[in-house]
Amino acid sequence: MDKITAVKGMEDIFYPDIRVWHYIENMIREQMRIFGYTEIRTPILEKTELFVRGVGNTTDIVKKEMYTFNDKGERSMTMRPEGTAGVVRSVVEHNMTGAGAPFLKFYYFGQMYRYERPQKGRLRQFNQFGVECFGTDSPYVDAEVIQILYLLLKKLGLSDLDVKLNSIGCPECRPIFREKAIAYLSARKESLCAECRERLEINPLRVYDCKVPSCAAAVSGAPFMVDNLCSGCADHFGKVVAALGDVGIPYTLTKTLVRGLDYYTRTAFEVTSKHLGAQDALGGGGRYDNLVDELGGPKTSAVGFAMGIERIIIAIKSQNIKLELEKPPDVYIIPLSAGEFDYSFKLLWDLRLEGIGAQMAVAEKKAGSHFKDADKLGARFAVVIGSDEVTSENLTVKDLTAHSQEKISSGNIVSYLKSKAAGSN
Ligand code: AMP
Repeated sequence: MDKITAVKGMEDIFYPDIRVWHYIENMIREQMRIFGYTEIRTPILEKTELFVRGVGNTTDIVKKEMYTFNDKGERSMTMRPEGTAGVVRSVVEHNMTGAGAPFLKFYYFGQMYRYERPQKGRLRQFNQFGVECFGTDSPYVDAEVIQILYLLLKKLGLSDLDVKLNSIGCPECRPIFREKAIAYLSARKESLCAECRERLEINPLRVYDCKVPSCAAAVSGAPFMVDNLCSGCADHFGKVVAALGDVGIPYTLTKTLVRGLDYYTRTAFEVTSKHLGAQDALGGGGRYDNLVDELGGPKTSAVGFAMGIERIIIAIKSQNIKLELEKPPDVYIIPLSAGEFDYSFKLLWDLRLEGIGAQMAVAEKKAGSHFKDADKLGARFAVVIGSDEVTSENLTVKDLTAHSQEKISSGNIVSYLKSKAAGSN
């Protein structure tokens, strides 16, 4: 029979790599507690309309990349391409904005789905971690979410990071700038790529971050949004920049940064790594002060970001960073023959109840072969149980790293193993 393979652009994650995922997730959860964010879990499947309205129907995501299908009731459903729209839907649906707290701070982990051309660092199912903060337009909160993204990447040991920062204005100043940009770029339409020519009237800001060299050249002398902000946006941006400076977060003002989602207002940012190939963005986000009301809620300011876990792991590997990963069980119990299985199984239970990580050989093999298995499993100790050990209740404990061995009475085995394991840390 033919093997069934995973869907193109979708990956299985398992041991030993899964340990890196656990490390990242545990570290992030701890930081989220410190920063005062709580977890939110929303469904993978949402009504298509949420993303059409929330992400924006001029974006590449909505136009080309969504996994959309009709369910059995002929309702159009979409596998979420990003996390923010679902979180906002939930906040609105559960009336959370009026809940009395000064602001709402959520974080999430989850799979996202985009029908993109797979390549290194670009998948069709990928995992994001993100934060969303609702209920305040304070520039300190913009600075806080940038600080979180930067800190998490630093805590993973990543270096050569570039925090790119820009402001893309608001509904007051952006339409005025839009006309200026269209006028400037229309005069250079011939140099723009086919896609940008199309974008020009619909979403001219997107032309600014096009990677095609002739587009980049056309944009280089263009007016920039950040130089054309209204006084409210300019004041806000100045405060974000000052707050980042106060806490020592380095950033690069990147006037061409616009981000691929329609909902952003004011602050936009992205963190890139020099250790990635073409897909060099580890994470990005920005402020979105109009999305909550566009999705049916009360006018509520918000800011957030998302980062891609797969890309972070690629960067960790290419920088050869050694993380302290979870260890395999310490103990491998080896019954020398089937006659010792029952005794061994009981000992296995006792050790596990005491919190000692243990596994047991369940096949009859030569002792040498058992020791090889113990090595493969990464155990530190082998407890060897033959008929003599069962009768005398004196067990043979081999320290597989120190290559030494001792006889330990069954009554002392737990405390012995615990003290040894503690000593090894
Ligand atoms: P975005 O939601 O497009 O702003 O993406 C935020 C982060 O998610 C990016 O910086 C990447 O790290 C990650 N990401 C986005 N798209 C993909 C993808 N197709 N495959 C892997 N990671 C992705």
